[in-house]
Amino acid sequence: MVRFDEIIYKKLTDAGVEIAKDVSARTLSTFGSGGFVDYVVYPKNAEEVLTCVSAFEFKHVLGGGSNVLISDNGLNAVLSMKKLKGYAFDGDILRASAGEYLPLLSKAAYERELSGLEFACGIPATVGGAVKMNAGAFGKEMAGVLKSVTLLKNGEIVSTTPTELKMRYRDGRIGSAIVIEAELKLTSREKEKIEYEMRENDAARRRSQPKEPSLGSVFKRTGATAPAVYIQGCGLKGVRIGGAAVSGVHSNFIINMGGATSRDYLRLVDKIKNEVRARYAVELEEEFVFLRD
Ligand SMILES: Cc1cc2nc3c(=O)[nH]c(=O)nc-3n(C[C@H](O)[C@H](O)[C@H](O)COP(=O)(O)OP(=O)(O)OC[C@H]3O[C@@H](n4cnc5c(N)ncnc54)[C@H](O)[C@@H]3O)c2cc1C
Repeated sequence: MVRFDEIIYKKLTDAGVEIAKDVSARTLSTFGSGGFVDYVVYPKNAEEVLTCVSAFEFKHVLGGGSNVLISDNGLNAVLSMKKLKGYAFDGDILRASAGEYLPLLSKAAYERELSGLEFACGIPATVGGAVKMNAGAFGKEMAGVLKSVTLLKNGEIVSTTPTELKMRYRDGRIGSAIVIEAELKLTSREKEKIEYEMRENDAARRRSQPKEPSLGSVFKRTGATAPAVYIQGCGLKGVRIGGAAVSGVHSNFIINMGGATSRDYLRLVDKIKNEVRARYAVELEEEFVFLRD
């Protein structure tokens, strides 16, 4: 593997790109585990993204880190899209850069009496991560609100649509492309109705999700039965390995009880998969993404 080194560091910083060195992965993933990342590269616009990817072939792209588990061995380099900011409304179209925070956009749409992002008000995602994962909640998903997506694919900036991508449940089907920005198609709606739905969604989340650090749902819901039902059926609620535990509030969440390693998380994932397979002959599929070199 070609490694990101001081020569590439100098080349990119000379070009004005912000790069942080020796960053603890605990600050990059919402689960709060993982080793150190040698270089975290923060492009601020599409041109800088192009400069970065022409200087180095990044294996790892990061948004808000709310769905990534980072190896305890650390990583050499990460392209963080978090600082690619900016959004604008044009009538009922919202155009947003990859690093914009989805709950913030949901609020901004509400302020303009525009509907479509009520489902997203509590998803701790950036636009890029939400497109990549086709994030969703309460029966809605990104594919339903996306008009178009601008991607960096094979060194070129291209525009595509959710239909062309054939986005699926928790899979935006963008492969190794990098999301630069997205256009969302919203619709007019009374502010009170938007507010009511957002409040209901928030309340449902508070009731059903743990407060401790996590990566959200560990496993995808692929069949009629939710993974939490199988996990609970195996008596795994509250089961702990090292600092990682199956949440007592929601069995499809693994929480960090303090000092959890990514290995603890993965060992717990294996235990759950093995027990669910043995008891129900069901193969659970991970929703989180594991980053390792
Ligand atoms: C408390 C909690 C609640 C959650 N609730 C939900 C929920 O209701 N619904 C839901 O769907 N998810 C939920 N999640 C999971 C998570 O928020 C989503 O998967 C989200 O889409 C991840 O976005 P991110 O920006 O944090 O991406 P990251 O976690 O940083 O990355 C996720 C994946 O996207 C890729 N990626 C990130 N940015 C880009 C980009 N610009 N271009 C290309 N690839 C990129 C990464 O390489 C990685 O493969 C929850 C997580 C937590 C912690």
